[in-house]
Amino acid sequence: MLQDQEVHAAEFERTFIAVKPDGVQRGLSHRNCGVMRCGNHSTTILQPPMRDAISEIISRFERKGYKLVGIKVVVPTKEFAGKHYHALKDKPFFNGLSEFLSSGPVVAMVWEGEGVITYGRKLIGATDPQKSEPGTIRGDLAVVVGRNIIHGSDGPETAKDEINLWFKPEELVSFTSNAEKWIYGVN
Ligand code: GDP
Ligand code: MG
Repeated sequence: MLQDQEVHAAEFERTFIAVKPDGVQRGLSHRNCGVMRCGNHSTTILQPPMRDAISEIISRFERKGYKLVGIKVVVPTKEFAGKHYHALKDKPFFNGLSEFLSSGPVVAMVWEGEGVITYGRKLIGATDPQKSEPGTIRGDLAVVVGRNIIHGSDGPETAKDEINLWFKPEELVSFTSNAEKWIYGVN
C-alpha cells in the first residue's frame, strides 16, 4: 500500500573520489596486458589478474546507487597534489605523498547521492589497508597505507573544496537517472 511506503525526500550531496596512480596502474600496467594477434592487427587485451581497479571502484559506487556526475583522467603536478593534501602538510609523509599523487594518471571523479560523503568513506575503508575491513575497496584491493589506491573526501567542507580544486563547474553534470525513483522511492 502506498501509505505504508515512506515518501523519501532525497538529499543529494557530492563527494570527490579519486583513483590514485597506484589504482590506475594496477589496472592498466603493461605486465597486466596481453597482446592478441588477429591477422595483421594486434589488440591489447586486459587479462587476469587484471580485475582493474578503475572499473572495480566505479562499479562499487554505481552498484550502491550513487551517481557519477564528473570524471576525468589527469596527471596532477606535485604543486597541485600538495594543494589537494594541504591539510597534511606537516606530516612526515607529505612530500612523498604529493610526489606519489603526481607520479601518474589519476582518475578524478565526483559522485552524487544521499550520504555519499560518509558512505563513500565506508565503501573505501580505513586509511591503512591493514585495518580496512574485507569487503571495502582498500580492504579487498590494497595492502599498505602508502599505496591505498583511492581517495575520498572526509566531510562536506573538504568535499566542496576538493571538487572545486579538481573540477570546473561546467565539467559536472546534473541529471536524473532512471534508477533514482527505485533507489530513493521518490519521483
Ligand atoms: P584518507 O582520508 O583515508 O585517504 O587518509 P588521510 O587523509 O589521513 O591521508 C591521506 C593519504 O596519505 C592516505 O590515503 C595515505 O595514502 C597517506 N597516508 C596516511 N597516513 C600515512 C602514513 O602513516 N604513512 C604513509 N606513507 N602514508 C600515509
Ligand atoms: Mg583524507
